[in-house]
Amino acid sequence: MKIDRSRLEQSVQQLGRIGETPRGGLTRLALSDDDKRARDQMVAWMREAKLRVRVDQMGNIFGERPGTDALPPVMMGSHVDSVPTGGKYDGQLGVLCGLEVVRVLEEHGVQTRHPLTLVIFTNEEGARFQPAMIASGVMAGKIALEDAYNARDKDGLRLGDELERIGYLGSEPCLPRPLRAYLELHIEQGPLLEEEGLSVGVVEGIVAIAWSRLTIHGVQDHAGPTPMRIRHDALVAAAEVVGGIRLIAKELGGDTVTTVGNLTVQPNIVNAIPGRVVLSIDVRDPRDEALDRARPMVERVVKEACEREGVRWELEHYWRVPYTPFDPGVVAAVERAAKATGARYRRIRSGAGHDAQYMAAIAPAGMVFVPSRDGRSHCEEEFTPMDDIEHGANTLLGAALDLAGQAGEGRTR
Ligand SMILES: [Zn+2]
Repeated sequence: MKIDRSRLEQSVQQLGRIGETPRGGLTRLALSDDDKRARDQMVAWMREAKLRVRVDQMGNIFGERPGTDALPPVMMGSHVDSVPTGGKYDGQLGVLCGLEVVRVLEEHGVQTRHPLTLVIFTNEEGARFQPAMIASGVMAGKIALEDAYNARDKDGLRLGDELERIGYLGSEPCLPRPLRAYLELHIEQGPLLEEEGLSVGVVEGIVAIAWSRLTIHGVQDHAGPTPMRIRHDALVAAAEVVGGIRLIAKELGGDTVTTVGNLTVQPNIVNAIPGRVVLSIDVRDPRDEALDRARPMVERVVKEACEREGVRWELEHYWRVPYTPFDPGVVAAVERAAKATGARYRRIRSGAGHDAQYMAAIAPAGMVFVPSRDGRSHCEEEFTPMDDIEHGANTLLGAALDLAGQAGEGRTR
């Protein structure tokens, strides 16, 4: 039994037209009108595949296919929201490959012992409402429902109100539920699979992530009459911090990555010395101890840069998630399935956060990666070849069947 490649390809194209950008990318922010249209399309396809559709209090959509036994379901899914001018594969592919798995089982009249549930999580990207992965976070009990409802976008609109506006404020409680497993297919968003000519990544876990926020208080003044010798320029200190943070990755070596991705400069005009800069610091590594070592290094870089420029600073380390290992049993099932497809594969770690990270807290979880061309994502150029998607989807099918147990074919592992 194999997935139907042309049907899957068609669905990818059809869903990709909702929110399509002129350059062939995707802008489909969470809870926007386009997000509603994409959800409606998915719900229609789920019903066609005979799934029972339910929506929870966070707007997460579940399509349930009964099993033969009274057992917890195997859940598969991802998200359909995107970043602005993003691509048609991030999230979309996981949801559509999950749908294809269900379609193929339906077509072949295959029943499983455990039920299968297709899930679409709300606001995974965090592009419109922060934090990212907010709805799987609520489901895993890591974020309070009220806090999630009160998240606001840049125009001040509340997540809870927007859910209601697009008709996806469901009644089902958003709580941890017993699951046999959670499986998510996703694009790699890095270059490794493509560089090594592989189709499938068997994901072992998600790297540890630490976020800090640095506020630098300089002295705002006129860019003309103020001599260089009396300046306290917040942006000059920030520039040194940016360079220093990059060097930390080099010093730690291994797989450490460090990024300053967001700067807010005040007043941000041509003829004033910047008085205040707020910047973000993102440090990731598979080893939790590398983050422990990075923290005093970040503090040293900030202290030295700010003292040199004679400016005050505040540094907050406000978010950290440890390395998330996936369930060895689920990883093994994904690996067996990858092998059975004949695809070239390897074990890999995810450098990006996914809903699977929160799901791993409440269920045995695992992921299937497919390559990203040039390692790129969150951009209009995002692309995965159909040959790889086919191998990835067949891996998802095999792993789901393995974990859910085909009825009348012995016991599940
Ligand atoms: Zn994603």
